[in-house]
Formats: sequence, structure tokens, C-alpha cells
Amino acid sequence: MHVERFESALWQTTSLLLVSESEAVVVDPCISSEEVQRIGARANELDARVTHVLVTHGDWDHICGIAAFPHAVAAMSPAAAERIRSGAAAPRLASASAEYGIALAGEPRVDLELEPGQAHRVGPFVVETLALRGHTPDGIAYRIRSLDVLAVGDHLSPIEFPFASSTAEYRLTLAGLADLLRRDPPATVFPGHGPPLAAAEALELAEADLAYLHELRRAVAGGGVAAGLAVEPPRAASADLARNRAANVEAQLEELSPHPRR
Ligand SMILES: [Zn+2]
Repeated sequence: MHVERFESALWQTTSLLLVSESEAVVVDPCISSEEVQRIGARANELDARVTHVLVTHGDWDHICGIAAFPHAVAAMSPAAAERIRSGAAAPRLASASAEYGIALAGEPRVDLELEPGQAHRVGPFVVETLALRGHTPDGIAYRIRSLDVLAVGDHLSPIEFPFASSTAEYRLTLAGLADLLRRDPPATVFPGHGPPLAAAEALELAEADLAYLHELRRAVAGGGVAAGLAVEPPRAASADLARNRAANVEAQLEELSPHPRR
């Protein structure tokens, strides 16, 4: 029983192959169809049948490889499932494929919804799940105790700063992850982008990201957009992701503006 990590050339995006004898589970197979094929080929090489594909959230770079595993059960949170079934995820897949000049495996699909907060039987593994809202509303963490690993999607990245769809939910998620990493740490944390982390490293990232989001809230509350833009993220991200810094300020401003608006 073991884990193998694959890394896309784009944003060091993580795919995982979880293997138990003749069966395997793939997490976020990505990004180009060629890169995804490599993961399937590795499973074949190990004589392991891929029974399930687990998806951490519905962003294009995490759902683009589902189609390469037509015989596996594609499983995700109910919110990610809704994003795919409604067609809301499809336009970004097409535009990203064009924008980055990457051939993708095909249309994503949903076969199974996993209720967050519960353990699920997924092929040969028991997988514990945890809602992780903040980067997106549909995020979910996967913990496989028999492998001592935790996959956290686009949180706790050592090569990106938080990209928040909701700063309030992102703070809650980080506080929850920090608590888990202190009291019940896995041996290895796999962020969606960047190399794997020991629990202590992941905890440091959680604290740094939480400090950034608290500073962002204080700055925007006191000084609006200009003050928010002056808050330094805890680490750099690739140039094409720099716009996310301004998006965080906008999200924070929106959350602090009383509803309903006049
Ligand atoms: Zn991502």
C-alpha cells in the first residue's frame, strides 16, 4: 500500500495515485491529457485497476483529467458535483485549454457524491472527508489513515498564497486545519499545488496564511481597497496568479459591506 505524487508542469499541480495491491484511487488527475495518461500508465504498470477518481474541488485544473478514467467512479463533494452537472464548470475548461495551449482529456463527469464530514469506502480505502470552504465553496479534504496522508486541495500551498472566494470561510478552514495539524496530524499533507509537506510545515503555512487574512481584514476595514492592496501576501505566486491578490481585497471588501445594499 503506497502513495505516488505526480506534478503537472503548470503551477506544480498535484495528482495522487493511491495504490493497494490490485486496486488504485487517483486524486485530481491533471493537467494535460499527456500528464494524465502517465498516471493511468503507472497504475497499469503496477497491475492496479483505478476504481475511483477523487476530486478536491471543481476548479478546472482539478477536474480536467476525470475523462481519462471512464471506468472509474468519479467522486466529489455535492457542491462540486453540482458545479459539473449544471454546466458551470465547462466554460472555464475550454477557455483554460485555449489560454494555456494544453490539450485536456475531455468533459468532466460525476458518478458519486461524498458527504463532507463522513468516512466513505472508496475502492480499497476508507477515506475521511472534511469540508474545506474558502478557496472555493465546494472544497473537500481527503484523509486516508491507512496511508497516513491528507489531501487539502488549494489550501496550504507552499508556492501560492491564499486565493479566497470567501475570506471569512477561508479563515475558518485554516483555523480548523491548524487544529487538526496540532491534535491529529497526518504524516504527510498534499497541497493541490507544490510539494508535499510534513505536518509541522503545513501548520506553519496555516498560521502564516491565517495571519495574512486577518491583516487583510483589518486593513480593508480601516482603509478600504488601497490599504488592502498594501498587505503583503505570505509568499509569492507565479506571475499569472498575481491578480488573485486584488481579488482577495475585493472579496474582503464585499464581505465587510452590509447587506442588503442600496
Ligand atoms: Zn488549483
